[in-house]
Amino acid sequence: MIKRLCIIGLGSIGGSLARALRSAGACGEVVGVDRDPEQLHRAVELGVIDRQDTDAAKAVAGADMVVVAVPVGAMTAVFRAIAPAVSAGAVVTDVGSTKASVVMAANEAWRNIPENFVPGHPIAGTEKSGIEAANGELFQGRRVILTPLAQTRRTAVERVREMWVAAGAEVTEMEVVHHDEVLAATSHLPHLLAFNLVDTLANAEEQEEIFQYAAGGFRDFTRIASSDPVMWRDICLANRGPILDALAKFSTNLAELAKAIGQGDEEYILTVLRRAKAARDRFCG
Ligand code: NAP
Repeated sequence: MIKRLCIIGLGSIGGSLARALRSAGACGEVVGVDRDPEQLHRAVELGVIDRQDTDAAKAVAGADMVVVAVPVGAMTAVFRAIAPAVSAGAVVTDVGSTKASVVMAANEAWRNIPENFVPGHPIAGTEKSGIEAANGELFQGRRVILTPLAQTRRTAVERVREMWVAAGAEVTEMEVVHHDEVLAATSHLPHLLAFNLVDTLANAEEQEEIFQYAAGGFRDFTRIASSDPVMWRDICLANRGPILDALAKFSTNLAELAKAIGQGDEEYILTVLRRAKAARDRFCG
């Protein structure tokens, strides 16, 4: 049971976590922090939080669990603001989509990263942003990856694990660098492909017609291109190396496919399509 939960960044992920923990009865008071007073006001109105503050340092005082849910590019500023104010014994965690950059941000803010800091990442989300997109069911049956560091105290990891289990998630642990490589391939690459495809088509001369005849497949493939551009700019910059590796591998394979199409190489084309279908059917059902 969390006595006082402080969530910094009341968007879709922070808001969803607050909702999930409240409906599970897993926390007492919920204090919300955001830089947008409108967002905070709405969060109180919707019953997502009990108390609001735009000052993160003030808000973390007395909280036994602090969750930082801002875009990864804003983590350093938030950590710097809360570092001197977090109560002794409080656990601090985050939900950022990249982990090496968050650990670097914590290092900049604290110099010695506290034993009670537990980096984390829920593998759940939506292309919608803001408190209106908060959904208490978002984490049901979804994975959360924690990437504890050598100095992270086990009791702190267990407290964060219990929090996510109460929100309905299944918790696993991974090493920071491995997390960023895996997520570059499984999440960051597909998002960039979707953004790039829509942008390419939107710049085409016949764009009106293209979008008019866009069918279900186009909608399915491009849904994630409606995600927040600021969040995704931050992820691109924060996970540069692994994203560039994933893009290079993809570009090589795409060039091979283009060559096969140009040469009318039926066998190559069919082999790639069959292999992809089999893999997707096996992993995604
Ligand atoms: P969001 O809906 O845009 O919410 C982020 C909130 O943080 C916004 O209300 C934003 O305010 C606020 N904020 C930004 N900078 C701040 C600062 N310095 N101090 C206080 N509040 C600040 O984004 P989200 O989807 O919840 O994502 C939040 C985090 O979760 C990100 O790190 C993201 O990488 C991670 N994540 C997202 C997903 C997903 O699919 N959405 C999944 C897993 C993890 P403004 O609106 O004024 O900018």
